[in-house]
Amino acid sequence: MDTLAYQPENCWTHYTSSQERVAMDGTAQEYLDFLSQCKTERETIAWLVDQAQQVGFSENLSADQVMISWRSKALVLVRRGRAPLSQGLRLITAHADTPHLDLKQHPLHEECQVALLKTHYYGGIKKYQWLARPLAVHGVVVRKDGQVVPVCVGEAESDPVFTVLDLLPHLSRKQREEVVDKAFVGEKLNVAVGHEPLDAEGQDRIQALVLKLLHSAYGIQEEDLFSAELQVVPAGKARFVGLDRSLLGGYGQDDRLCVFAAWRAFMNAPISEHAQVLVVWDKEEIGSDGATGAKSRFMEYALADLVDHWEPTSKLRHVLQRTKAISADVHAPMDPDYQDVHDKHNAALLGFGPVFSKFTGHGGKYGASEADAEYVAWFRNILAGENIPWQMAEMGKVDEGGGGTVAKDLAVYGMEIIDFGPGVLSMHSPFEISSKADLYATIKAYGAFFCS
Ligand SMILES: [Zn+2]
Repeated sequence: MDTLAYQPENCWTHYTSSQERVAMDGTAQEYLDFLSQCKTERETIAWLVDQAQQVGFSENLSADQVMISWRSKALVLVRRGRAPLSQGLRLITAHADTPHLDLKQHPLHEECQVALLKTHYYGGIKKYQWLARPLAVHGVVVRKDGQVVPVCVGEAESDPVFTVLDLLPHLSRKQREEVVDKAFVGEKLNVAVGHEPLDAEGQDRIQALVLKLLHSAYGIQEEDLFSAELQVVPAGKARFVGLDRSLLGGYGQDDRLCVFAAWRAFMNAPISEHAQVLVVWDKEEIGSDGATGAKSRFMEYALADLVDHWEPTSKLRHVLQRTKAISADVHAPMDPDYQDVHDKHNAALLGFGPVFSKFTGHGGKYGASEADAEYVAWFRNILAGENIPWQMAEMGKVDEGGGGTVAKDLAVYGMEIIDFGPGVLSMHSPFEISSKADLYATIKAYGAFFCS
């Protein structure tokens, strides 16, 4: 009866040829370079647009390779297939935003001889993870004349970095007795940005020097900060982790791991039966609301424009209802130190390939989008045909918590969609961990889907 039982397969023992391992290493290095370079949604979209342009994508809606970006924060890429759009798309969607600290609109102040930038955190963070570590500032300042000034400080070897101060253990007795949520509060996530006064006389001389330095570097003044989008992110490059270099460590892997995997699969994919679509969103980490999140009309309008140009007699609703899609988002595999939050019988493991979550949401399946049995079976067959390892899992114990993705926002169009992505440990931390082997298998899996 052994053959009746399902055994998940370890990617490390599946991809053993030296050719596969060389490809795996090369892909991992390219991924780490991408992670090191792209730390905000704007930087990620700019990178994708640049790469897409290099291989012939344009905003010309009559062409066969089309790129539609939205406010520098969301993107739709489409490659025409052999079949008409009305037979549906092969669509993969991922998100480019990641948890970070946003500067407040009045960020600059000084206390106790230190100039500080006030922040409001974005997305689900454990606040203590952002203390006492080197931080960088990425983003844009837009001046009244409309000029967009890109900012990136803290990444070059010669750059200064920034930091949020932490309380010394000697005086932390009260803090230690607090529950974590009370011990670390948002209003104390202030970023140290200066210490030297502009001159000896007058008020607020330290912040005056910071303003002077900002003006000389970027031509901006305090009022420009009111409209700026400046994000505080962990400074430094993504790295291989472990003596065997098997793990990939870096900030923002949820969900840039899937953005990169889907992008590579999209680029590698030959023209196929169905049109291939890659959609990258912003704002997933805070509920997908707003003009650039998955609840917006951006994708719908972009595809409507495409239908108008490519197939004016087809109906967009039919295109969407006949579409098969992947919500490419990362999964929480078993954490070796916190195994008790997982249901071992329904948990994924790092290194066993991309993970299907048939449904997301939390206790009682609230807020869930659930893929049909028919669709999951169809997908299993695609992966079996290409001999790609994969796993089926649920994130955490039933009453332990949970999470949502953009799947439910796209499912409303009637398309078939399932969450399917690699595992990430230390998720939402400044240094997330993924598996080199999972990245490799995920690219292959997304590629098989695009060509299905
Ligand atoms: Zn995510």
